[in-house]
Amino acid sequence: MTTVYWLTRDLRLDDNPALHEAAKGSALVCVYMIDPRWFEPGPFGWSPMGPHRWAFTRRSLVSLEAALNTLGHSLVIRWQRPEEGVPEVVNSLGAQRLVTSRPTAFDEMRQWQAIEAALPLVRCDLVETLTLFDEVGLPFRLDALPETFSKFRRAIEKPGLTPVTPLNKPAALPAAPSKFDADQQQFGPGTGQSETPFAGGEVSGVDHLARYLWKDQSILTYKVTRNALDDVSASSKVSPWLSAGALSVRRLAAEIARFEREVDRNESTYWLYFELLWREYFQWYSRHRGRELFISPGRQGQHSGSTDAGEFERWLQNADTHALVRAGRVQLESTGYLSNRMRQIIASACIYDGRFDWRLGAAWFEHFLVDYDVASNYGNWQYIAGVGADPRGGRVFNLDKQVSQFDADGSYRKRWLKEP
Ligand SMILES: Cc1cc2nc3c(=O)[nH]c(=O)nc-3n(C[C@H](O)[C@H](O)[C@H](O)COP(=O)(O)OP(=O)(O)OC[C@H]3O[C@@H](n4cnc5c(N)ncnc54)[C@H](O)[C@@H]3O)c2cc1C
Repeated sequence: MTTVYWLTRDLRLDDNPALHEAAKGSALVCVYMIDPRWFEPGPFGWSPMGPHRWAFTRRSLVSLEAALNTLGHSLVIRWQRPEEGVPEVVNSLGAQRLVTSRPTAFDEMRQWQAIEAALPLVRCDLVETLTLFDEVGLPFRLDALPETFSKFRRAIEKPGLTPVTPLNKPAALPAAPSKFDADQQQFGPGTGQSETPFAGGEVSGVDHLARYLWKDQSILTYKVTRNALDDVSASSKVSPWLSAGALSVRRLAAEIARFEREVDRNESTYWLYFELLWREYFQWYSRHRGRELFISPGRQGQHSGSTDAGEFERWLQNADTHALVRAGRVQLESTGYLSNRMRQIIASACIYDGRFDWRLGAAWFEHFLVDYDVASNYGNWQYIAGVGADPRGGRVFNLDKQVSQFDADGSYRKRWLKEP
């Protein structure tokens, strides 16, 4: 049986259950689709894929291709809409099976359904690769997902319930079918301008984690440092690799547990896992809410705000806009990264000070973030706007108070606004 494995946000060999599943056939082809729509302007003007994530993704693909080569394989990369490209590849090979990672968001699920419908004679399988738990292992049905993160965490932290154990990288893969044309690489547009400090790919992700966890042991102080506005070791910085699937979240959780067994455990080591549960909650929340993750006003009926992107850009650059927000804009747009604290501050300022529609801010983040994750991004914006999974109905940050707590000496603002 020939299997096509369509890679999406699972650009790794380690702990990749989809790859293991796909490797059960007698022949295998791995394919990645670069969707031209990623680069087209969205409803607010920004394209979904900005320069930082694209640079990171390209490097991840190069790294994956090299890793597959060591197993005698290559990666077919096509510049094409998946609804057209995936069935084309499957049909051209006469493949009997298609495997991919289960998508988290509404549009990707619709895309998958279209592909399935186009391949009525092919066995099409979704495999969970993005989450700590499988849906069957959750202590509730997805349609009864707890309404708040606190309830979710209490349910998921029940004694005896642990994330799925990660799998090792496969020792071998079935060969490519004989009629396979390995020379099908279409990389799409160039990298654009990106000064992101993050290098894509599984190898650099593994190195990064080894340094953060085992060499520097920065996890031991994570809970006290994580709110810093801009300090490399203050938080793990694993998000770009997790979002691209170049690192497995299950592997990360298992490494944290191993660190606790072999080195030390304290409130900080637990807190990093706690943050992974926030990520987990938003993944399931996105699947549960479907289209509602993207619409305003959301569940609680409250929302208003301007959707004018030109006005938004002018506000971001206006000298009257708080210097903390202006500095955050520069950091985000030039590097693709903001700390969690800065993301919260900026989201709150956009919604409550600038009075913009939260979806505008979310689309801006989507374009620029190197670690954009659909569920975490839209889930967090909704949370701050008070239209999603927030029992308190929104979170308003007092910017002057944030400055006195986190940037009293002005170093963050000076650094990014290049002020003396
Ligand atoms: C408005 C807004 C938008 C955001 N958009 C994204 C996004 O597109 N992609 C993304 O990965 N994260 C997003 N986050 C969550 C969080 O800010 C980042 O995950 C974090 O800053 C990444 O840095 P880190 O890896 O050093 O995080 P750490 O503090 O080291 O945390 C470890 C991991 O836990 C997860 N995590 C931590 N905090 C959160 C959170 N609040 N929600 C969900 N997961 C979390 C992430 O996977 C993160 O990599 C957003 C937060 C806000 C407030």
